[in-house]
Amino acid sequence: TRVRLVERLRAQGIKDEVVLDAMGSVPRHIFVDEALASRAYEDCSLPIGFGQTISNPHTVARMTELLRGGRTLGKVLEIGTGCGYQTAVLARVAQEVYSVERIAPLLAKARTHLRELRAANVKVKHADGSLGLADFGPFDGIIMTAAATHVPEALLPQLAVGGRLVFPIGTGEQRLCLIEHTAEEYRQTTLEAVKFVPLLPGLA
Ligand code: SAH
Repeated sequence: TRVRLVERLRAQGIKDEVVLDAMGSVPRHIFVDEALASRAYEDCSLPIGFGQTISNPHTVARMTELLRGGRTLGKVLEIGTGCGYQTAVLARVAQEVYSVERIAPLLAKARTHLRELRAANVKVKHADGSLGLADFGPFDGIIMTAAATHVPEALLPQLAVGGRLVFPIGTGEQRLCLIEHTAEEYRQTTLEAVKFVPLLPGLA
């Protein structure tokens, strides 16, 4: 099933071999409840409890490809750990991964899953990610897996020069947004439509 998943991602236009390798090596079924495990490799988002969802494989691959932009990644920050699937993919393409989640019991689940995979280069934290993790930056990449209503300004100074921020933006219709921190500016590109749960303030 994972080989088929990679073939499908290729057909859907994912080109980055590093990302395709990561997608092919992370078992997705361990991140979803047993009742849904048989559907783990279908191209759809699935419920993970607490009103949240695990993103569909194509979206995870696409955002990871955008985050990499063909570079090797040192330190990466993920905002919205959820069940930890995207986190596990990041752990295979970056040296060091920090991931923050606002819902404590979801984070506990993610910890269990990531431990099962022995993802030793991942640190997860119970925090409101809208402010990033200033103490641990700067990051080569920041990925947000919940939709923001505006550009999260607080995250920009936490991006290393050459770094990339990838996140969904919008309230009704959402789009993927890429911000590249070049030596001169923060260059913003708006990309395809996506569907994410909203970024929410505070801890739960
Ligand atoms: N990356 C996940 C997707 C999880 S859905 C996966 O691979 O499955 C988005 C997650 O973002 C939810 O778990 C939600 O609780 C979390 N979230 C929303 N607002 C947040 C915030 N301000 N800080 C941290 N996490 C947040």
